[in-house]
Amino acid sequence: MTIDYDQAREKMVNSQLLARGIRDQNVLAAMRKIPRHLFVGDYLQDQAYDDRPLPIARQQTISQPYMVALMTEALELSRQDRVLEIGTGSGYQAAVLAEICDTVYTVEKFPELLDQAAAVCRQLGYRNIIAKSDDGTLGWPEHQPYDAILVTAGAPQVPQPLLDQLAEGGRMLIPVGGDLIQELKKLTRRTDRIVEERLIGCQFVPLRGKHGWQ
Ligand code: SAH
Repeated sequence: MTIDYDQAREKMVNSQLLARGIRDQNVLAAMRKIPRHLFVGDYLQDQAYDDRPLPIARQQTISQPYMVALMTEALELSRQDRVLEIGTGSGYQAAVLAEICDTVYTVEKFPELLDQAAAVCRQLGYRNIIAKSDDGTLGWPEHQPYDAILVTAGAPQVPQPLLDQLAEGGRMLIPVGGDLIQELKKLTRRTDRIVEERLIGCQFVPLRGKHGWQ
């Protein structure tokens, strides 16, 4: 039996995103367009539009569609924003960001995952994703400051280098808490302070590195 991926994707957007209050038209358009099934292994493609995260290589995961949408919407992106993602994983979130913004920087710890993600993104025609394999808890100082920083792995605390690389008015989304469950936080840099909001409980794989889990 062949699967109608376009239909599965439309259903995902309606039942998982719109029905739960995602309203950002750029986010909805990006997720209506991007073939999420190409970011997972062949054996999982028929589950790519299900309402949950899925395993990728190196015991990592591609986030649940709703979580991708919620985080992206909360970043309040404009086209000119300079965006940094920590934890490229499958490359799916980077593709969503690349549909919305001109330039996306992304850092992944495992070279093997980065290579795979870069190959899929290249195949889909994204020329605006700039990626490297490194410890993302250090940020990517060469291209700072960032208008938006998205961390897609759970941290014990907010890594200071990421805060330092956030532009004035910049937003950071990051899961903070224990190694199994965390709270999704949104930090906004104002002139003289950082404003912190707590969005929802979440479950991400651990952010491992100098300013993350050891
Ligand atoms: N955004 C991804 C989800 C990735 S899961 C997607 O759309 O598929 C989290 C990723 O963070 C994993 O690939 C993991 O290897 C990576 N990671 C963990 N610690 C990291 C670190 N210190 N720097 C960069 N990436 C890290």
